[in-house]
Amino acid sequence: MELFHSTRSTDIQVTAKQAIRQGIADDGGLFVSDSLGERTLDVESLPGKSYQEIALEVLRLLLPDFSDDELRECIEGAYSSFKDEDVTPLKSLGMNYVLELFHGPTSAFKDVALQALPRFMAHTHVKEGEAQSQEELAEGKERVLILTATSGDTGKAALDGFADVDSTGIVVFYPAGQVSEVQRMQMITQSGQNVGVVAVHGNFDDAQSKVKAIFGDAALAADLEENAHTRLSSANSINVGRLVPQVVYYCAAYAQLLFTQEINFGDEVDFLVPTGNFGDILAGYYAKRLGLPVGKLVVASDKNNVLYDFLTTGVYDRNREFFTTISPSMDILISSNLERMLYYFSDGDTELISRLMNDLAETGRYEVPSGVMRKIREVFDCAWADEDQVRAAIRDCWDENGYVIDPHTACAYHALSVTEGTPTAPRVVLSTASPYKFPRAVLSALGVAAPESDFACMDALADLSGVPAPTALRSLEGQLPRFTDEIDVDEMPAYVRTMAAKFAGASGAAA
Ligand SMILES: *Cc1c(COP(=O)(O)O)cnc(C)c1O
Repeated sequence: MELFHSTRSTDIQVTAKQAIRQGIADDGGLFVSDSLGERTLDVESLPGKSYQEIALEVLRLLLPDFSDDELRECIEGAYSSFKDEDVTPLKSLGMNYVLELFHGPTSAFKDVALQALPRFMAHTHVKEGEAQSQEELAEGKERVLILTATSGDTGKAALDGFADVDSTGIVVFYPAGQVSEVQRMQMITQSGQNVGVVAVHGNFDDAQSKVKAIFGDAALAADLEENAHTRLSSANSINVGRLVPQVVYYCAAYAQLLFTQEINFGDEVDFLVPTGNFGDILAGYYAKRLGLPVGKLVVASDKNNVLYDFLTTGVYDRNREFFTTISPSMDILISSNLERMLYYFSDGDTELISRLMNDLAETGRYEVPSGVMRKIREVFDCAWADEDQVRAAIRDCWDENGYVIDPHTACAYHALSVTEGTPTAPRVVLSTASPYKFPRAVLSALGVAAPESDFACMDALADLSGVPAPTALRSLEGQLPRFTDEIDVDEMPAYVRTMAAKFAGASGAAA
């Protein structure tokens, strides 16, 4: 059985279910499995299969302690709400391709993972009669409280996935004033008895760092356990349950190219990925490890180009100005999933990873040995776009293809023109959000004067492009907000305590 352990130590080994339930390892590391790629995908058999069938093939390799029936149930449930029959349709874009990942309920790619994660989690509760000890039985009756720091899109996608899920609560922290109007409305109008949404004074990194500190706070954990029978977990992309569903669409895109005979079996394909926390692009690397012929994975950043600098110099340095841009979901200086990549490219050197992450915590900076960087650069290429370049990319893509992209996708579209790629390989741009999530920025990039409200911008964009706005976004107009609290970063632990008590009270005294 494949087991998972921390990127920082191999001492404690857990199953995939335990890793998903726990979210992050006790030492602050991320869960990884050393068996990644030992068993590979039968890529040649994929063309013609449905997205759901491909998902089963991929997930059974990555989550080996889930039964096929459990996986099927998760997959069917997760993707039934997607508005496109192919789930993540691949479309041609001139000489290249775009993989539309935004047809889920919240119109961002995070739905692909966050519709699956709650369903995975439901199968991690130890069932009565199956518990091997009193301890496990108690664990099975525990409530889980999901804490999520969001730069804009994760929050809503996680809320939608976890709302009213049994024995589970969810609290979302977003940076006050740093998400789009549509993103904010999506979150603060969220329904459900088990949800909490709060604006935090600070940026995404401040909120994410505090959430990580809360996960590491043993006293708080004991308090929640005792007073609310609640254990904390994460829906951020540090959770392996968030990561693995994203591996599927790389494989599905490749299968589609094979099916339409744009490529022959074995041909490499490049993927250009709008990147923030490094979850999406890391999933592309996992796909490669499973045997998918992936050429280059291009990390596309916005003006917060810490990853570009890292990949070009080998020095990761978060001591720099933070920019709030029109691509807020990529406004990140601490890219958490990089830790998993470093683990794999250093051949599992947990000592090295511990040292680097310690350096990051203490000095905001670390330097990766050149031998490791060399291997990384064989797979990963990089590019970044400033805001003028993002706007130009939106305009160019419309002029050249009659296709409207959002500002995040635009970073990857820009990368098409400034990176070389694998010779003759088809290049696939991952489209991570519907342009209707950012209608104001998109309209003005297209040279249209933006009306006052984001909803009027949606209408103007629909008129211009002929593609209607997703109903779930357009219908937010005029909805009453449920959550208007704003707090300081220091108040986050107290907020967690209050919400845990509230959810525990609301669902009765089921200990
Ligand atoms: C989250 C997000 C990204 C970045 O994805 P990571 O997995 O964090 O790298 C890019 N674009 C959009 C629209 C997002 O919501």
